[in-house]
Amino acid sequence: MTSASACPRCLGRLRPPDLWSDQWRCDEHGDVSPWHEATVAPEEALRALAGTATVPVWVPSPMPVHWYVGGVGWAGDDRAGARSSALATAGPSPVGGPADMLLVAEAPGTGLGSRLAGLPGPDPEQLDALPEAKVEAAGHPTALWPVASPPDRAAFVGEAGGVWLWLLLWPADAALLLLEHLVLEDLRDRPTLAGGLLFGAPTDRLRTPAAARPEAGPS
Ligand SMILES: [Zn+2]
Repeated sequence: MTSASACPRCLGRLRPPDLWSDQWRCDEHGDVSPWHEATVAPEEALRALAGTATVPVWVPSPMPVHWYVGGVGWAGDDRAGARSSALATAGPSPVGGPADMLLVAEAPGTGLGSRLAGLPGPDPEQLDALPEAKVEAAGHPTALWPVASPPDRAAFVGEAGGVWLWLLLWPADAALLLLEHLVLEDLRDRPTLAGGLLFGAPTDRLRTPAAARPEAGPS
């Protein structure tokens, strides 16, 4: 079971393909890949996603101690396959209290990572000269750049597998987790990893609303 098709950029309702267009359409964002979230059986959804995604399906391997999977989502349709994958995880923050981490792989222009990071456009804009963090993704050292996000979270983006890799953390100081050596594997290459993942209470981070649109200034 999955949620109804929604816009990956604003979670708004979509108009389905019809006689005149074979694309799903958001009134505000035009043609988009429909966003879905697994509402039950996230483990099954994750396995299915690894079979159909055209982008990596990142899972931490190993998971940080006492962390679990709290949500699975993707953008794409049955015809073209998922052009974005998202895994929500949760667990204890290194500085105490609960924390959330989202991992997103997406083709440029999808706009899912930007919504979760709280950015206005579909893709990250200018990145700082120097990356601030590093993870290992499918065996490759992968640099991550910080992006300016609302203060409740820390958002990083890099490139892995030819598409964006977004890593988002709540609260912001949970970014200390990245000081540990975080290793990500692509579930498409390592499908057996799904069997070792712990699934826990669903989190609502994948439903993080888009950033408020900037107010139009006086003209
Ligand atoms: Zn939209």
